[in-house]
Amino acid sequence: MSIVIPTYNEEKVIDVLYSRLREVLDEIAVPYELIFVNDGSRDGTLRELLKLAKKHAEVKVIDFSRNFGHQIAVTAGLDHARGDAVVIMDADLQDTPQLIKEFIYQWRQGYDVVYAVRAKRKGETFFKQLTAKLFYRTMQRLTDVDIPLDTGDFRLMNRNVVDSLSAIHERHRFIRGLVAWAGYPQIGVPYVRDERYAGETKYPLKKMIKFALDGITSFSFRPLQWATKIGFTVAILGFLGAILIVYMKLFTNVTIQGWTSIMVALLVLGGMQLLMLGILGEYIGRIYDEVRGRPLYLIREVYNFESVSPSPNL
Ligand code: UDP
Ligand code: MG
Repeated sequence: MSIVIPTYNEEKVIDVLYSRLREVLDEIAVPYELIFVNDGSRDGTLRELLKLAKKHAEVKVIDFSRNFGHQIAVTAGLDHARGDAVVIMDADLQDTPQLIKEFIYQWRQGYDVVYAVRAKRKGETFFKQLTAKLFYRTMQRLTDVDIPLDTGDFRLMNRNVVDSLSAIHERHRFIRGLVAWAGYPQIGVPYVRDERYAGETKYPLKKMIKFALDGITSFSFRPLQWATKIGFTVAILGFLGAILIVYMKLFTNVTIQGWTSIMVALLVLGGMQLLMLGILGEYIGRIYDEVRGRPLYLIREVYNFESVSPSPNL
């Protein structure tokens, strides 16, 4: 079994995480490797990881050349994992290591993907909980792929699923969506998401928005279809209005006072056009990114991987 853990400025949690994981792993008693991906941390994360790696051969470390982001860090871990099952979890102990036992139980029952559903979230701000709830529900309405509600990346995947993911070369990765898209027998297990053990969230609003847009643009064309629909409606209304105005001008004495109506039409239409252009831009920017085909991530060094590491996913 492999466990993939992305870490970004998590120096304070690494030791506790390791000891909590060890308890569980000793109970399960299957061969394992822990793959930590250091996603360009600016604190002592790498130092802490290397201390562990020195003591324990099954702790492996991938050190990125800079911060590439959470989803890419997970991807690198998956690319390097060799286990017959792979668990993805956060470093901050919000994903309880104890749940891995349940994952394994369900996996042995024949499920290829076992994902953790957040029945309750502790110690997160009201704002975070609300935006997360809204996000998962919007995603479900927007996409045709059935992405489970309130489910993060904390999950176990069988080897065939991991291989399927590695064959997907998308750059703007929304992993939980890709796994849902891949199919295979899947099951959710509920859990209570704990508080972050130490440090602060590494997902400020800006990253959350980017993450949400990546999710939506990679799984739905709906926003583009809205543009068509809204454009269509406005065009019909405009056409009817034009007929009415010309009729009134030619055949009646009523004249409409102009400024207000013109300004309203101008501002509403102008705003709407910019919004639609923005939506187009979100898609086009991502297309450009995909087309350039730069590597997904760059690795500075790997530790404790005996064999030569496979080349990064292009
Ligand atoms: N993370 C990462 N790179 C980033 C941001 C986050 O590797 O650019 C890692 C982070 O160290 C943690 C996991 O992704 O292990 C989830 O981040 P966090 O707990 O801050 O997110 P939240 O739980 O607040 O949504
Ligand atoms: Mg967290």
